[in-house]
This record gives sequence, C-alpha cells and structure tokens, in this order.
Amino acid sequence: MQLIWLRSDLRLHDNTALSAAAARGPCVAVYLLSPEQWLTHDDAPCKVDFWLRNLGELSKALGELNIPLLIRTAARWDEAPQVVLDLCRQLGIQTVHVNEEYGINESRRDAAVADLLQRHGIGLQSYLDQLLFKPGTVLTKTGTYFQVFSQFRKVCYERLHRSLPNRVTAPMAQSKLNIDSDDIPAAVEGFETPGETLRALWPAGEHEAQRRLDTFVDAQIDYYQSERDFPAKPGTSQLSAYLAAGVISPRQCLHGALQSNQGEFESGKVGAVTWINELLWREFYKHILVGYPRVSRHRAFRPETEALAWRKAPQELLAWQQARTGLPIIDAAMRQLLETGWMHNRLRMVVAMFLTKNLLIDWREGERFFMRHLIDGDLAANNGGWQWSASTGTDSAPYFRIFNPLSQSEKFDREGLFIKHWLPELAGLGRKDVHNPANLGGLFGVADYPSPIVDLGASRARALAAFKNLPSRQHAGDGYE
Ligand code: FAD
Repeated sequence: MQLIWLRSDLRLHDNTALSAAAARGPCVAVYLLSPEQWLTHDDAPCKVDFWLRNLGELSKALGELNIPLLIRTAARWDEAPQVVLDLCRQLGIQTVHVNEEYGINESRRDAAVADLLQRHGIGLQSYLDQLLFKPGTVLTKTGTYFQVFSQFRKVCYERLHRSLPNRVTAPMAQSKLNIDSDDIPAAVEGFETPGETLRALWPAGEHEAQRRLDTFVDAQIDYYQSERDFPAKPGTSQLSAYLAAGVISPRQCLHGALQSNQGEFESGKVGAVTWINELLWREFYKHILVGYPRVSRHRAFRPETEALAWRKAPQELLAWQQARTGLPIIDAAMRQLLETGWMHNRLRMVVAMFLTKNLLIDWREGERFFMRHLIDGDLAANNGGWQWSASTGTDSAPYFRIFNPLSQSEKFDREGLFIKHWLPELAGLGRKDVHNPANLGGLFGVADYPSPIVDLGASRARALAAFKNLPSRQHAGDGYE
C-alpha cells in the first residue's frame, strides 16, 4: 500500500506525487492539520479556510477514484514523524510519497519524517512539483544561487528551450479499499471562518482554478502587459491563491500560456511572455528561499540593511493596518486586503514602500501583517516582495527610488475608480481631488476621512538619510549562512 501525503498540492491533475503513488499500487491519501504550526507561520484564517474548502473538493474527486482521504492532526510539525509513522503502521504502508515543499521548517519536518520512517523500513519518496526547476539546478557558473532575476531567467529560458516540464497523467480509478474517507472539518480552532462575501470570491476546487486559467488565457493574456498595473481592471489572472495551495500547478499555467503563444515563452505575444515572466519571479523567490535560508528566518537578504534605524511607531503602523493613513490609494488597497484576502500587485508594492520608506517601519511588520491576511500568502513571494520594496532584498528596488503614493495613484488609478470603490466616502470627489483630499483644505475636507498621517516630502528625505547612513554595502553572502 502507498501513502500520498498531501500538503500544498491540493489537486488531482498534474500532481506528481499522487500519480506516482497511484501508479505503484493501491493508495491512500492523508492531510495533516497543524494549527499550532500554522499560527507560528502567521497563516491567515481565510487561507486555512481555503485549504479546508479545497480539501473537501479534492476528497470528492479522490473518492470517485476510490482513493480515501484521511485527516490526521500534528498540531506542530515536530509531531508529524510519529503521526505519519502510526498511520503507516496501521495501514501497512510501504512508501510515503510527497511533493517537495521549501522553507527551513518544511525541510526539517520532511527530513525528520524520512528518518523515522526509514528506521521502520518505510520509504519516503519526494518529487519536484511546486516549481518548474529544482532549487539548486539553476545556478551561476560558479555554482551559486542567482541573486539577479534577469540572469536567473536567462538560464530558465535555456532550460525551457532544451525541454519543457511535462504534466503528469492523472491517476486511474483503483479497486475499492476497505477504508473510509474522513470528514473534512468545516473549521480549525484558532482560525476564524471568513464571511461568505470573501469566500464567494475564491471558490474552491480544481475546476475553478482551471476555469480561471482558461478564461485568462482566452480573453485576457494578450492585454496582460498593458493592463496588469491598473487595479480597477481585472487585468491579472487572480490565480495566486490556487497556485499557493497547489490547486493548480505551475506546469499547467505554463502550458496554458504557451498554447496562447504558439509554444513561445521568450518571444511572440508580449502578454504571454510577460505573464510567464511572473511565473518565473515566483520560481526565483522560491529558489532564493532555498539558496539563502536566512530569508526564511526573517533576516534581510542584504545583511548591511539589518543596521537600519527602523522607527517604532505603533500608532502609524495601526493606521496603515486599519486603512486610516489619509492617503486614499494606500487606504483603498488595505481595505481590499482586509475584505478580500488579496491585493493587486501594483498596490502591494505601493503600500509596502509607503510602510518601509515613508513611515520607515520595519518590513517585517508589513510582511507579518500581509501573511496574516492574504489568501495567497506564500513565504517566498511575500518575503521577496517585502524585501524588494524595502530595498533590503535581492535584486530589489534601489533605496533612492521611492514610489510617491500620489503619483502612483494618479498614474494607475487615474479616474479614482479603484479608490472610490473601496472608499465610498470619497465617491463625491472629482478625479483630481480623489487622490489627495487633503488638497481641499480643512474647510472642504471629507468629514469621515482622516488627514495624511505623514508628510510625503519630509518622510522621503528621512528614508533617504537612513539608508545613506548605512555602513558600506557588503557582499550578501558575507558572514551569513
Ligand atoms: P498574475 O499577475 O496573474 O501572475 C501570475 C502568477 O505569477 C501569480 O498568481 C503568482 O503566483 C506569480 N507572481 C506574480 N507576480 C509575482 C511576484 N512579484 N513574485 C512572485 N510571484 C509572482 N504573491 C503570492 O503568491 N503570495 C504572496 O504572499 C505575495 N506577497 C507579496 C507581497 C508584496 C509586498 C509584493 C510586492 C508582492 C507579493 N506577491 C505575492 C506577488 C504578487 O503581488 C502576487 O502574486 C499577485 O498579485 C497575484 O495576483 P495574480 O494571481 O492575479 O497574478
């Protein structure tokens, strides 16, 4: 008997470990609930709810193939080895199959499970599945991990020209086993169930993920490059939650995009090429996580930036978190996050720069807050995005290039449609004033809307001074593992 241990790969199609397990003989699936570990990782309640809803869909799909899905609890991952071993003994499992997960805690957990199983004569087989290329196989000529995205991408292109990662065939139905699937819990203690409005935005299941991919590829990908920066438009795929939970695979996404571009990934239609580029950013940050494990521990990628004099400003942090900064584009974006569990990429950069530069608050505060609210929260992408915005990361924004939230707002939400959607109290303002109601002065100000909590010019100068005062930049690898 084979065991497929599902984690962030909640799908039936193109699931490498599942197909391998099913090909080797009768198989059973298991998922571990790890609430204490999830709390430690700041996993958002809406994300945990999304996992549970997807498990429900997957359990039905597996059930049709007679593959039972069992639910076990390992509150913390250090309990996982014993929980998996007990199940293996109970079912007479020969091999446990898993798709690789990246990050220090994930790697440690898997090593400990493999070790205990091996001592009991049970194998653990892991597969590349979450990424197109295995971390450690896309390296510089001197054998180190790339720190610059464009160089990383060049090698990815070379690899893709040589051979495209193929999708695996879905498992076939097996004979019925005498094992019943467990009920999927409706909720897990410690994680509040989100409201129906949020849930309705993110329907569970592979079917929905595939529908989103198909619709995006058929109707939107050609306009992706020109529309992806405008938050009022549905210009992007909104697949990130599905990719993060593994309800769809990067291979399925890649092949979808290739189909719309005559098999080209580097040339041809600019929309498809740009979108594949984003899939490679996803890839890049996960490789960084493995190559530079300090980022997994919330350390800066650029060690010299650890000396930055971040401000302790709890009231300003709270205003940012609660969408009360008095800068409409920032507040509208934060409301989008709080109400939908998702934020448009352009605005993630804008609010992150505002927090780390204008408020000069440590990027780790923003990283944690995002993780606690994002339905697509992913350690590698979130950390990468925050460190990019804070200029502490690999290939990040140079510290002196600070986005001005007002010009970003005027450029990417010209008519103020996005702002007015999320801040209806500003609906009556004209297209000029909506970006900065403070311009109207106290007399005409909007009663319910706060004044800006910070002066943009002075705070920009403060950030520049703080970065300039850093000791000279060292090589990112110096002195750190
Ligand atoms: P699309 O534009 O359709 O892109 C397709 C896919 O490519 C995305 O679903 C995602 O998987 C990947 N992708 C796109 N942009 C990036 C990027 N810059 N880095 C890594 N992968 C990317 N993305 C997450 O998935 N989880 C996070 O926790 C996360 N946190 C972020 C925090 C900050 C501060 C910033 C600046 C970016 C963050 N991103 C994160 C990246 C990006 O904002 C989201 O992936 C994107 O907005 C998701 O929307 P979409 O699916 O419509 O993307």
